[in-house]
Amino acid sequence: MKSHRQEIWFELPTRRGFVNITPQVESCLKASGIREGLALCNAMHITASVFINDDESGLHADFEKWLEKLAPEKPHSQYAHNGFEDNGDAHLKRSIMGREVVVAVTDGRLDLGPWEQIFYGEFDGKRKKRVLVKIIGE
Ligand code: ZN
Repeated sequence: MKSHRQEIWFELPTRRGFVNITPQVESCLKASGIREGLALCNAMHITASVFINDDESGLHADFEKWLEKLAPEKPHSQYAHNGFEDNGDAHLKRSIMGREVVVAVTDGRLDLGPWEQIFYGEFDGKRKKRVLVKIIGE
């Protein structure tokens, strides 16, 4: 069995944002030389997510609105976590949107559904963060 480990780095200029990382994950897969197996992608930070959904701007706006209803950023004082930090909302948003995805690798390609794309979800940006890609197989 082969394995391949790679990190994808981000520094979003905004507090929140979604980035389609499917091309980067495909590059990792290419570099791995693995044809059959599994690809794991996970955020390495507790205020960021990796999830799979549609690359459609209306949907992304809906996610932003929905997450702000569930866990509004402000007032910062509403969260017990915000003693020395202001990112209580970001931890909650990350929990809802998930930590990781696993995608099947078939015939050297990510075996995604027709509209599935892999996204990095940032909820406390303006600093360097990363996603881990680990691919195993043969
Ligand atoms: Zn925190």
